[in-house]
Amino acid sequence: MAIDRDSTLAWMTAFAGEMSEHRQELVRLDTAIGDGDHGTNMNRGMQKALEKLQATETADAGAVLKTVAMTLISTVGGAAGPLYGTLFLQLGNALAGEAEVDLAGFAAAWRKGLEGVQSRGKAELGDKTMVDALSPAVEALEQAADLDGGLSAAASAAEQGMHATTPLVARKGRASYLGDRSVDHQDPGATSTYYLFKSAAEALTD
Ligand code: ADP
Ligand code: MG
Repeated sequence: MAIDRDSTLAWMTAFAGEMSEHRQELVRLDTAIGDGDHGTNMNRGMQKALEKLQATETADAGAVLKTVAMTLISTVGGAAGPLYGTLFLQLGNALAGEAEVDLAGFAAAWRKGLEGVQSRGKAELGDKTMVDALSPAVEALEQAADLDGGLSAAASAAEQGMHATTPLVARKGRASYLGDRSVDHQDPGATSTYYLFKSAAEALTD
């Protein structure tokens, strides 16, 4: 399957579905090491993004992702709104004007997205943030031989990265205020990032 406007719309619809389905799980994770709003934030932001997409003419995958970015930036507070907004904005800018995106183009766009998140949030791998799911997933895409294999490898890498946050001490964001007490909890943002790659693997493959 090609990555184009329609499959990207299906991907964003699937991601919004994951945020709705897993809202309470994300709230529970964020209650343990944060303020408990991550599931509510992401669900509200993605529902708004779907409403906006229904009311907007989008020319291509890049335009879809930029619309999601602008909606998240304007409707979701906290750390995750601006960080996911930056991620989707970089993805959207990289894909703008392309009717169909191949594996190399998609991987390059994700690299820009990761750079945007890190430039904004200053988190490195191992700081117990969404970067811990995002970074290995981007690498898996870059190393893949074909799109379907890459999407599936990226989802697995994000899932492993998400689980790998559990034993870590948080060094960025609200969870870092807990110091050692953040250990033994899975990071909420890494978890929502895993769902972003899971929905990509489902919506963008045959
Ligand atoms: P807030 O912490 O403001 O309540 P959310 O609860 O919506 O925002 O999101 C928390 C998640 O944001 C964390 O689990 C973490 O993955 C991510 N996060 C927080 N700060 C950073 C950062 N500086 N860089 C990358 N990700 C971050
Ligand atoms: Mg929170």
